[in-house]
Amino acid sequence: PGGPSVGELIRGPVPTFSFEFFPPKTPAGEQLLWQAIRELESLRPSFVSITYGAGGTTRDTTVAVTERVATETTLLPMAHLTAVNHSVAELRNVIGRLAGAGISNILAVRGDPPGDPMGEWVRHPDGILYAEDLVRLIRAAGDFSVGVAAFPYKHPRSADVESDTRHFVRKCRAGADFAITQMFFDAEDYLRLRDRVAASGSDTPIVAGVMPVTRMATIERSVQLSGAAFPPALLERFERVAGDEEAVRALGIETCVEMCARLLDEGVPGIHFITLNRSTATREVWQQLAPAEVATAA
Ligand code: FAD
Repeated sequence: PGGPSVGELIRGPVPTFSFEFFPPKTPAGEQLLWQAIRELESLRPSFVSITYGAGGTTRDTTVAVTERVATETTLLPMAHLTAVNHSVAELRNVIGRLAGAGISNILAVRGDPPGDPMGEWVRHPDGILYAEDLVRLIRAAGDFSVGVAAFPYKHPRSADVESDTRHFVRKCRAGADFAITQMFFDAEDYLRLRDRVAASGSDTPIVAGVMPVTRMATIERSVQLSGAAFPPALLERFERVAGDEEAVRALGIETCVEMCARLLDEGVPGIHFITLNRSTATREVWQQLAPAEVATAA
């Protein structure tokens, strides 16, 4: 497919700023998504990404939304793709449709089983076993820039940090241009991941995945969202204002800005905002960060 490469932007001298959306399931959800896309478009992010439905659903919507972003906006889109419930032939078909729509950037993740994300992973009889295999499949299918997932607190299925790092590096060597992390709330956790990956001899750039806290409920879901308990020192700051919704939100923006500024100081190759299809919190963080330069293809 060719076209601007997310991998090249991330490997460039200026940090990338990107936004993640999920495919809507209802007409109201669709309206919300497109409102958020339009509101964030004016910030001129490096790229935007569209997730692939959990359990291998929304195959069609992911392709359709990504294609619409490519044709109707000025944004550079990246599609997520998972291996759940797909044969290799089906995966090739989705990859071919993305190529046909001019999409040249794909985030290759294995996906979780439908229902319980920690349930047994069952490979489709004609499918693949690990994200590593999906990376190879996409690479073999054409001129794509391919990203993979990284986990600051190790993947919940990994026995320990060492094997997690080993498998991550294998996945990168299979042909990934870059990685994006699961969300985290303490810059140190990102830096530890980056250090252990570098110590394993991998130079794959790792973009930080972030989501500002806007409600106490996000903190309560920390283990589910990030893979670890919310950092205790930060939790104390939030607990002091827990009764005041506006104050929680303001603190969420402030602490996200603090973390992003630290990451930028540390030379992070990019920051990827999980927007949940809303623009306000992301825009506020962006405005306070006021990046002097943003990597873009244009
Ligand atoms: P893998 O890299 O395959 O790893 C899975 C487990 O297997 C890990 O424990 C790993 O250490 C282990 N492993 C890997 N290789 C080997 C090997 N050779 N031998 C033994 N063990 C091995 N989910 C969705 O459904 N849709 C999305 O759009 C989506 N987007 C995401 C975006 C980001 C940035 C992130 C961080 C996650 C995303 N996810 C998405 C969630 C993801 O699908 C799950 O976290 C999934 O459980 C792991 O995917 P993976 O690609 O890291 O898997």
